[in-house]
Amino acid sequence: MEEQIKNIQTEAIEAVKKAMSLADLDDIRVKYLGKKGSFSAIFRSMKDLSPEEKPKVGKFVNEARTLIETEIQAKNEVLKENELQDRLENETIDITLPGRAPRLGHLHPITLTLNRIKEIFLRMGFSIEEGPEIEEDYYNFELLNLPKDHPARDMQDSFYITEEILMRTQTSPVQARTMKAHKNNEPIRMIAPGRVYRRDDYDATHSPMFTQVEGLVIDKGITFADLKGTLELALREIFQKQVGVRFRPSFFPFTEPSTEVDISCVMCGGKGCRVCKGTGYLEILGAGMVHPRVLEMSGYNYKKVSGFAFGLGVERIAMLSYGIDDLRLFYDNDVRFLNKF
Ligand SMILES: [Zn+2]
Repeated sequence: MEEQIKNIQTEAIEAVKKAMSLADLDDIRVKYLGKKGSFSAIFRSMKDLSPEEKPKVGKFVNEARTLIETEIQAKNEVLKENELQDRLENETIDITLPGRAPRLGHLHPITLTLNRIKEIFLRMGFSIEEGPEIEEDYYNFELLNLPKDHPARDMQDSFYITEEILMRTQTSPVQARTMKAHKNNEPIRMIAPGRVYRRDDYDATHSPMFTQVEGLVIDKGITFADLKGTLELALREIFQKQVGVRFRPSFFPFTEPSTEVDISCVMCGGKGCRVCKGTGYLEILGAGMVHPRVLEMSGYNYKKVSGFAFGLGVERIAMLSYGIDDLRLFYDNDVRFLNKF
């Protein structure tokens, strides 16, 4: 029996030496030391031994087992170390792989349109003026020749904060503020871009908040011809093409005479389509010669200087420039839409 144990021991230690992996080692452990392993069989057959032999053989088996366990343990350390080394060598990081770039945002189509409009007027020598969005009735209406009982106020119903304070309905109060800030009939050439608010529906062509660019020119001898020339040039620059420009008589309380300005339809080129409702023209802005009373109220002498003013809707220009048929797309913040620009 001792011979048999010796053989198992030699065989096991040989196997441990040959083991190539931790899995091999585990198999060896099960084969020799496990419940159904070689030594368990020996233990079972020991019941037939004489009482004198039992402890001797038992000791011999235990020594063999301990020896094999020690060998397995030692080999285990070596294999672990090797496997770690292999992983370190093989699992290197490939630094030539391109990284994941962060997603960059970009400017909103309204901002892009506004920037283009600003740039065009800056090139023509205009300055950019700003004013508060929460405005006094005095600047928003009164100084623009819209006293409290004026019926035209109905066209610009607003969100009032108090009787005298409201969300501005137009960027025109910036004109009044700028005029007030100038003395001695100083010339002005300015635009005022910004958000305006009106009590309005929210549908494909209306929004209670939208973006306007107001313009004002005051100097000695400014005439309607200056108004026409400036706006024709600006509109052709804005739409980057030879659009036809048409002036129609209109009414605004703060200009006299007043005009609506149309451009030939950018969709059909003037033939008539759904966008221009078959007319071949699109209404694009309102303008006029500054009313003498407006000049006077803001400290200008209408006998010495004259001027013209205009106001255009940025959303409308963006819709026509990009071929967008629903105003709400600008405010919905749908990334699928915004990514197109
Ligand atoms: Zn058309």
